[in-house]
Amino acid sequence: MPLELSIPDIHLLFKRGEINPTMLLDEAYKRIENNSLNSFITLFKEDSYKKALKMEKRIKEGRMDILTGIPVAVKDNICIKEERTTCGSRMLERFISPYSATAVERLQRRGAIIIGKTNMDEFAMGSSTETSLFGFTKNPYNSRYVAGGSSGGSASAVAAFESVSALGSDTGGSIRQPASFCGVYGLKPTYGRVSRYGLVAFASSLDCIGPITHNAIDSAIMLEAIAGFDRRDSTSLQVSVPLYNSLLNKKREIRIGVVRGKLMENLKPEVIDVMERFIDRLFSIGIKTEDVNIEGFDICIPIYYIIAMAEASSNLARYDGVRYGYNKSEVRSPKSEVHGSRFTVQGSGARLKELYEETRADGFGREVKRRIMLGTFCLRAGYKDKYYERAVMARQKIRERFENALKGIDAILLPTSPTLPFKAGERIGDPVSMYLSDLCTASVSLAGLPAISIPAGTREGLPVGMQLVGRRLEEETILGIAHRLERETGRRGEGEGVMT
Ligand code: GLN
Repeated sequence: MPLELSIPDIHLLFKRGEINPTMLLDEAYKRIENNSLNSFITLFKEDSYKKALKMEKRIKEGRMDILTGIPVAVKDNICIKEERTTCGSRMLERFISPYSATAVERLQRRGAIIIGKTNMDEFAMGSSTETSLFGFTKNPYNSRYVAGGSSGGSASAVAAFESVSALGSDTGGSIRQPASFCGVYGLKPTYGRVSRYGLVAFASSLDCIGPITHNAIDSAIMLEAIAGFDRRDSTSLQVSVPLYNSLLNKKREIRIGVVRGKLMENLKPEVIDVMERFIDRLFSIGIKTEDVNIEGFDICIPIYYIIAMAEASSNLARYDGVRYGYNKSEVRSPKSEVHGSRFTVQGSGARLKELYEETRADGFGREVKRRIMLGTFCLRAGYKDKYYERAVMARQKIRERFENALKGIDAILLPTSPTLPFKAGERIGDPVSMYLSDLCTASVSLAGLPAISIPAGTREGLPVGMQLVGRRLEEETILGIAHRLERETGRRGEGEGVMT
C-alpha cells in the first residue's frame, strides 16, 4: 500500500504516474475511519482533495518537489489559517486561527497536503493523550494501551499508516515518547532550529516542533522542509540548514556514549533488555559504544516541571474569555472568532473577574489547572528565588553536563521511556507517576539538544524506542546513525511488530 512507503518511494511512483495524490488520500481517510484510533480531532477532507488535484497537475507538468502530494498530519496545537486549532481543550474548541504556523507554511509551499489535525493532551500537558477534551488516542498495537503523549494522535496516525508523516510538538518528550510507544521515528530538533511561530505556547523556553515518521529518511526530509530562521520567532536560530537528506549516507567513524549509572535503577528490565540488543546492533554495523555517566538525572523531573509549569502559568494567562477562546457567558460561533474578539465586556470590575474565573474554571481541564496553580505558586513573590530561579540555575548545570559528555563522542544513547507503554487509565489518576515517565526525555529538553526516538523492538507486543541525543545543531549525525541502523539491520532489528 502506498501509504506504507517512504517519501522518496512515493515521489518516484508519482513521477512514473503509477499512483497519484488522490489515491493516497482515499487510502488515508479510509484507514482513519476503519481504525477508529481517535488519532484525529479535525479532518480536512474536502480541502485535501482539492489540493490533491492541484498537485496532480504540478506532477504532470514536472514541477515537483519531494513533498509534492505527500499527506501530512498536524498536531492540533499548530495553527493553520482559517482552520480550527483546539489544543485538545474546551478553551479553544471553537477557535479558528487567523494565520498559519511557519512550519505549516513551509510544508504547504513545498506541496505537502495537510489531511487533518491530530489529537493531543490538553495544551500538550501530559504523556498519554488522555487529558484531551476529545478522548484518548488508542495505541495501534493494542487498543487498551495509550499511544503516549502529548503528540499521541500524530504518532498513532503515522504508526497505523493513516498518514505518511506528521508534525508534533515536544516540550519535555511529547514527540519522542509517543513515537516510542507507537513504534515510529520521532525527532525533536535543537531548540530554535524550527520556528515556533504559530505553535500554541506551553513552555516557551522548551517548546519545539518536529516530525514523526516511518523512517529516518522521511524525518530528514521533513526537518529540511520546516527548519531555518524565521524572524517571527525571536528564539529561532540564524544558522543555515544542512541538506539532511543528502547527508544521511555520509560514512564516518561514530562513537556513542551509553548512559549508565543511577539512571539504570529507574529503567524497567524489558527496556534495559531492548537497550542491550540495540547496542549489539550498533556494534554489528561498526559503531562503538562506551559508558558515560551524566550526574543529576534524578533531579531533571522536578527541574523540568518547575520551569514548564511556571512558563505555562504565564502563557495561559491570555485565556480570559475576553479576547478569544471559550467564554462562559456567551458561546460564540466559530466564524466570529476569526479575527480576534468582537466581544466587549460591560459592567463592573467584579463582573469581569467573575467572567475570568468562570471561563477558566470551565474552559480548562484538571491537569491544566493543576499546572497553572503550581506554576503560579513557583513564581509568587518570595518563592520565585526558591523554586523558579533555582530550577533555571540547575538547568544550566544539566546543560553543561550533557555538553561535556558529548565532547568526545557523537551521540548519547538512552531509552526514550523508562517503561513499556502503559494501559489507558493506569496513570491518569496519579500525576506523579505520569510525570516520572518523562525522565529520559525531559532531561534532554532541558539541555536543548536534538534527539530522535528510534523503534528498537517490541516486548509483550508493545513497541520500545531508543533515543539518540546529538550535539547542538547536529541533527544530521543522529539521523545518519538511525538511517544506517535501519538500512543495515532492518527497521527494528528483529522483525516487525504485529498490528492489532
Ligand atoms: N509529558 C510532559 C509534560 O506533561 C511533556 C509534554 C510535552 O512535551 N509537551 O509536560
